Amino acid sequence: MKTVVSGIRSTGNLHLGNYFGAIKNFINMQDAYNCFFFIADYHSLTTHPTPEHLNQQVKQVLAEYLACGIDPEKSTIFIQSDIPEIPELYLLMNMNAYLGELERTTSFKDKARKNPENVNAGLLTYPVLMAADIIIHKANFVPVGKDQEQNLEMARKFARRFNRMYKVDTFPTPQPFTFDGADMVKIPGLDGSGKMGKSEGNAICLYDDPKLIRKKVMKAVTDAGPTEMNQQKPEVIQNLFSLMSVVSTPDTVQHFDDLYNKCEIRYGDMKKQLAEDIVNFTSPIRDRIIDIMEDDAYLGKVAKLGAEKARESAAKTVQEVRSIIGFRKFY
Ligand code: ATP
Ligand code: MG
Repeated sequence: MKTVVSGIRSTGNLHLGNYFGAIKNFINMQDAYNCFFFIADYHSLTTHPTPEHLNQQVKQVLAEYLACGIDPEKSTIFIQSDIPEIPELYLLMNMNAYLGELERTTSFKDKARKNPENVNAGLLTYPVLMAADIIIHKANFVPVGKDQEQNLEMARKFARRFNRMYKVDTFPTPQPFTFDGADMVKIPGLDGSGKMGKSEGNAICLYDDPKLIRKKVMKAVTDAGPTEMNQQKPEVIQNLFSLMSVVSTPDTVQHFDDLYNKCEIRYGDMKKQLAEDIVNFTSPIRDRIIDIMEDDAYLGKVAKLGAEKARESAAKTVQEVRSIIGFRKFY
């Protein structure tokens, strides 16, 4: 069975874009692949969270993953900082990662430009830690979006470099997994911008309460309405329909599409329906998040099980790597 490794930085609550763009596909992969899902809390240290915030966010993302349906029995779900073998492999890989190539990474340059007061070494070696995360489980596939393509390319380079240097084939070259065959969706923002996202500040989160969801949807940008029968929809209106198509029934979408085509649509009615359908979709997930967040014993059990499974796999790789490099015990 092929191995897939996927991680998410614990920096914000999951939103509808994350769910329909990524998590839904992950859930469907759990039977066909040996899946590792992890919460990248070491990675989040580059932006210096407070101790309380660090801990709270890790817990929240863990609960949200579980509430969405990632199954800790089928998959390995773990917290990065529970696996000491990851920083160990990171240290070893750092010896074969060169300053020039790290400085040229687009994400490093972007972040250094945006926060010149915080260009720390962790930011520079971010791709090495990410490579360690991936190759420690000998991953064959990594689901990545466009923004992570270059970092995965570096992981591929470091894996091949190690194999070449020591004339071994320890690490498979991890391939990007693009959910071919599955529905590729981009969830739009309702503020007229192209994409729903954490940084865009336009996200409807799985954890938002119904009142907040209704407020966010009712504020969605629209236009003055269609003036001709069957006219093409402008982007802001298409965004409403796109979101509706993932949370509402096909009949509902058809109903509003017909009204639009007949120039009889009332956006207020459509938004009300959309808000209710989002609430119906997120409410059970939200209820589960709340339940799970209160259940420290369950979260502890999941994290422990995940850490055990992930450590077993990671320790095997690190042992192999140490022996290849030439570490021998003298006692
Ligand atoms: P940030 O603004 O910090 O980049 P984000 O909201 O874009 O955050 P990520 O953590 O970058 O979320 O993405 C996690 C996963 O969700 C990725 O696989 C990404 O491709 C997917 N994703 C994020 N936003 C959307 C969206 N609007 N539509 C579809 N998929 C999305
Ligand atoms: Mg993103």
